[in-house]
Amino acid sequence: MSDLLAIQNLTVEYPVGGGRHVHAVSDVTLSVKQGETLGLVGESGSGKSSLARALLQLPPPKGGAVLFEGQDLTKLGGKALRAVRPRLQMIFQDPIASLNPRRKVAEIIAEPLIVSGVSDAAERTRRVRAVMEAVGLDPDLVWNRRPHEFSGGQCQRIAIARALVLEPSLIVCDEPVSALDVSIRAQIINLLEDMKARFGLTLLFIAHDLAVVKSVSDRVAVMYLGRLCEVADSESLFTTPAHPYTAALMAAIPEPDPDVPLGDTKLKPGDPPSPLDPPSGCRFRTRCPHAQPRCTDEVPPLRQIAPGREVACHFPLVG
Ligand code: ADP
Ligand code: MG
Repeated sequence: MSDLLAIQNLTVEYPVGGGRHVHAVSDVTLSVKQGETLGLVGESGSGKSSLARALLQLPPPKGGAVLFEGQDLTKLGGKALRAVRPRLQMIFQDPIASLNPRRKVAEIIAEPLIVSGVSDAAERTRRVRAVMEAVGLDPDLVWNRRPHEFSGGQCQRIAIARALVLEPSLIVCDEPVSALDVSIRAQIINLLEDMKARFGLTLLFIAHDLAVVKSVSDRVAVMYLGRLCEVADSESLFTTPAHPYTAALMAAIPEPDPDVPLGDTKLKPGDPPSPLDPPSGCRFRTRCPHAQPRCTDEVPPLRQIAPGREVACHFPLVG
């Protein structure tokens, strides 16, 4: 499979005054293959949303390249970028907040069509109706209603319809079910998987919850404090985690599989470090039960340990 999206050495920093920066995303290289679902997992504050927004150039990253369908988005000007935008859509964590409360549902879903120049009103109506039906909304019932009249799950359906209406190739789903009731989550995940199959989409699926990522992803990338720890196909990652942080995440899910060898997953006591002043060497070393002096001195590069498996650790658990 070829890469639909290739992120190269992506760096996102936020100035916070006094010459200091939040190191939100540091030197991340990662690709998403045509047609796959790539899960991106990491605890809150690890830089997942910063990475997602940087892909869409909202705002552009401090450094690195974002190759999408062969073009480096960081080098495109406003007009060329607007031409690409329809192909690259995003769904956010808080569905209600992501929808304009004053607009009717039909207007919300039609807006991207208007912005991208679909000037024929009948054509817009036809496409909005079709996409509403695809996501399981009855056009006749929802057309003139406003977001506050719907539950979080229904609002996420509206947001998905809005993302789909321009027929994108890639959808970045930033914690699309984290704000929803547990009972609704599976419905929205199933909907995304149905839409993926039906429209031939590629998904970058972001979550802080490893269990959610496991259920949807072909491959998984694990992020910690702005850097990638590990990238692997789901099967390998969940049966033989290579990075001690991945193992710690797996040990923390409610019913870890007793057959998976996790080694020592007990994190060192103390607070997680600040992204304002991340640890030298491996950023996970201050909490890692396996850390050695080398981990303080040298940044572990993301390196291949088996076909399709990469890990950024001097002392990986496998390989
Ligand atoms: P995640 O989505 O994994 O929770 P974020 O990308 O939201 O992580 O945040 C990564 C880090 O960047 C966090 O420390 C967060 O506080 C910080 N951050 C995010 N947005 C901003 C901003 N606009 N200004 C300053 N710091 C930010
Ligand atoms: Mg986030």
